[in-house]
Amino acid sequence: MGFNALLVRKDDEGKTSAAVEQITEDQLPDGDVTVAVEYSTVNYKDGLCLGPGGGLVRNYPHVPGIDFAGTVEASNDDRYAPGDKVVLTGWRVGEAHWGGYAQKARVKADWLVPLPEGLDTRLAMAVGTAGFTAMLAVMALEYHGIKGGPVLVTGAAGGVGSVAVAILSALGHEVAGVTGRPETADYLKSLGASQIVAREDINETTKRPLEGETWGGCVDAVGGPMLARVLGQMEYGASVAAVGLAGGAGLPATVIPFLLRGVNLLGIDSVMQPYENRLRAWERISQDLPMDKLEAMVQPATLTDLPKLGADILKGQVKGRVVVDVN
Ligand code: NDP
Repeated sequence: MGFNALLVRKDDEGKTSAAVEQITEDQLPDGDVTVAVEYSTVNYKDGLCLGPGGGLVRNYPHVPGIDFAGTVEASNDDRYAPGDKVVLTGWRVGEAHWGGYAQKARVKADWLVPLPEGLDTRLAMAVGTAGFTAMLAVMALEYHGIKGGPVLVTGAAGGVGSVAVAILSALGHEVAGVTGRPETADYLKSLGASQIVAREDINETTKRPLEGETWGGCVDAVGGPMLARVLGQMEYGASVAAVGLAGGAGLPATVIPFLLRGVNLLGIDSVMQPYENRLRAWERISQDLPMDKLEAMVQPATLTDLPKLGADILKGQVKGRVVVDVN
């Protein structure tokens, strides 16, 4: 029986286009577990894969969707049985492998985790890769020690940023959010930010490698000149978790903050995280992310909304988290 999938096709001139089509199970890629997908999301990488691909997609036609949650329909692996609720993020699903923008997906059992306690499949995708990564970033900051000053979150009104603000605030930290959208100030305050920093105040490079010691930690979704600037504003011994590149992949910085202030720059990767860390991060999400704040971030969508939402997220115009009901 056929089912709906959002397929991205590439024409002879190399132009991509995305549309909902009916496909059949025998078109799905190889894998141990077939999942009846309930929800997926829109992350920054999905924006790339819905468009020309950003070098991430290997073959066309392609089903994007870097994360999904649903119910196991068939399994050749002892760890999963029909009826089990599961979540997938990372492992290049939705990039090199067909992803979650379809009513069914077939993947390796190694890539799945059981649906965390306290979440249903919709809430798991309200968190999605962006929220999962925000949690990994907070865990990395905790491991290295969060200092006394406010914790800065850049790209605060985006997916990673919104979840990071809510978690850090729930953990009792003072949170400052950097945003280029002043109209999101009330939203960010409702998530727990007590201070809003205008993007233009922190986006410019400065000749001074060190500024006042202001931030006790930072979750950075932006990279580029903003990350370089933030490094020079960190408290002595504080850490920055580098998550994203919404503002650029370059890092026009000096090593002075590392040498004179013992600042740590921590790399965060969500794609290849080992299974045990994944379980730990999801458990922490269930525990430390207030569900009312998560709900406040959610914008619902369907498969047909995706081409527009993909373009929007690349322009930094999506607020919070999009939850895609694929059915
Ligand atoms: P979003 O688009 O939801 O959030 C990014 C936010 O960054 C925007 O909402 C905007 O926030 C801000 N922003 C956008 N453009 C610029 C710019 N030119 N200069 C400064 N700020 C800008 O994306 P996600 O939250 O899903 O992802 C954020 C980043 O994290 C992406 O680069 C993504 O690839 C990366 N990522 C990395 C992962 C990993 O494993 N390391 C996993 C998941 C995401 P505002 O309007 O508030 O300023």
